[in-house]
Amino acid sequence: MDFTLTDEQRMVQHMVREFAQKEVAPVIKDFDRNQNMAPFILPRMAELGILGICFPICYGGQGMDYISMGLACEELEAVDTTLRVVLSVHIGLNSMGILQWGTEEQKNLFLTPQARGEKIACFGLTEPGCGSDVAGITSTARRQGGEYILNGEKMWISLATKAHHCLWVGRTNPDASDPHEGLSAFLVELDRPGVKTGDIHGKLGVRAGSTGWISFQDVRVPEQNRIGEEGEGFKIAMSCLDNGRYTVAAGATGLIRACLEASIKYSHERQAFGREIGKFQLIQQKISYMVQSYEAARLFYLRAGWMKNKGIRNTRETSLAKWFATDASFQAASEAIQIHGAYGYSDEYDVERYLRNSKGAVIYEGTSEIHQLMQAGYALGYRMDASLRCELPAYDVEKWQ
Ligand SMILES: Cc1cc2nc3c(=O)[nH]c(=O)nc-3n(C[C@H](O)[C@H](O)[C@H](O)COP(=O)(O)OP(=O)(O)OC[C@H]3O[C@@H](n4cnc5c(N)ncnc54)[C@H](O)[C@@H]3O)c2cc1C
Repeated sequence: MDFTLTDEQRMVQHMVREFAQKEVAPVIKDFDRNQNMAPFILPRMAELGILGICFPICYGGQGMDYISMGLACEELEAVDTTLRVVLSVHIGLNSMGILQWGTEEQKNLFLTPQARGEKIACFGLTEPGCGSDVAGITSTARRQGGEYILNGEKMWISLATKAHHCLWVGRTNPDASDPHEGLSAFLVELDRPGVKTGDIHGKLGVRAGSTGWISFQDVRVPEQNRIGEEGEGFKIAMSCLDNGRYTVAAGATGLIRACLEASIKYSHERQAFGREIGKFQLIQQKISYMVQSYEAARLFYLRAGWMKNKGIRNTRETSLAKWFATDASFQAASEAIQIHGAYGYSDEYDVERYLRNSKGAVIYEGTSEIHQLMQAGYALGYRMDASLRCELPAYDVEKWQ
């Protein structure tokens, strides 16, 4: 593996960094305080091509590779987690799922406008009564002639009130002997009759982002909107999570970097006992752990991105990358506050926002506990990944550009 960035990857990194640092960083504190998503974020990300980075040009994308998408996530979350969440759901959990599992017609109808940023996409898996235990989904999809009738409540859905499309999972077979096999996935336009959405307020973090609920009451969709076969919903949701988790891992790496940079700056500025606090070994220890976490998290996500580029199954490596980076980013943010002393405890400095934002990522896209179970399962030989009917396509520069 050679992780020297190509000219194209460096160009993406630079473009996204400029956008996040120059256009978002100056205003993010106000939007976070007001618990609103800045209205310019989605249109501007669309305009810059960020919403379609890693999709073939023939599907409206920019023809870049999966590592470029990871680099973009790192740059976005180095400024604010809410920016990276957009890529996690719009690209990782939805559009990449269509690239992997969708028919040609579904790619043209859903993926292309999403990659162009004309339509925004979200992912509806979690329900009020179940999150980690996906087999507990109670939403239903009942077949009637050439249609399905969808019913149920989805909760904690990022971009619920901003999205036009949702990749939604419901139960088509309540009698399946294995409840995982009774689930199917659908691409649903959220302007269909019977759809209601709303925002959740009062969150600990990602306050400048949009998190909400989606309710379906007798929502009719044509059979052509089912993605994959009946009964493949669990597998599709899990492969979407393989992609979403990759974006979370890369983003959390950016958050660690932001904590490190803020801590270094403050350690040089702040004086105590007649010297800058960076001279104290206990402060140096905190900085050194951040360096270690950043470098390791970066290698983990680059490896996962490299595997995606090559078309190699990476559920195990992506889970490890996500678990490590999110736990480490929470730790880094906590220590960054400690380095800032009382000032870190107020929103005068960014580090308190980093801590609030970092906590969400150890919960969504598989809690840290779920990733520990997965890693132990692989190590003990209880868990193995069988090949899928549709694998994520490897990056192919000839075909994609
Ligand atoms: C900001 C935010 C954005 C989100 N965005 C989306 C989205 O866009 N789409 C979507 O579908 N969902 C989204 N979610 C939901 C998220 O994926 C779930 O919260 C997550 O999967 C955990 O589910 P839960 O909250 O129901 O917790 P539970 O599954 O109820 O877990 C509660 C606790 O029990 C632990 N636990 C559960 N099972 C086990 C076990 N077997 N062994 C050990 N411990 C266990 C968990 O680790 C956790 O600590 C979002 C959540 C947040 C906070």
